[in-house]
Amino acid sequence: MNLANCPRCGKLFVMNYKGICTNCMKDIEAEYEACVKYLRENKGANIQELSDETDVSIRQITTFIRDGRISIANAPNMGYPCEVCGTMLREGNMCESCRSKLTSDLREASKAQPQVKKSNPGGAYKAVDRIRND
Ligand SMILES: [Zn+2]
Ligand SMILES: [Zn+2]
Repeated sequence: MNLANCPRCGKLFVMNYKGICTNCMKDIEAEYEACVKYLRENKGANIQELSDETDVSIRQITTFIRDGRISIANAPNMGYPCEVCGTMLREGNMCESCRSKLTSDLREASKAQPQVKKSNPGGAYKAVDRIRND
């Protein structure tokens, strides 16, 4: 038997594929049911309302949505916070601006790397010379 401390409640439990104890699994199922029920009756709810009304943490609701267990396709005001800045999203893990910032950060990082292959720098100069001579 493989015993571990449950990351959710801290109790010792027999390790399973979910990585949390059976009590917590039941809790999460109950939270899931509560969220689904509330959303079914309140399609216009946003994640804050859902969390307030069901006492389920936004973090947990976000997990349900990301896992695809809760569909937000029919709930136009539902979204979950961007991992980086907290802006509400309806898909992906990051908002547009964090994503483009990350992309440009990555580009900067790759620029800082010494260039291994140089793309024929002489070619460009020759072209300019030719235009000038025409
Ligand atoms: Zn637990
Ligand atoms: Zn963001």
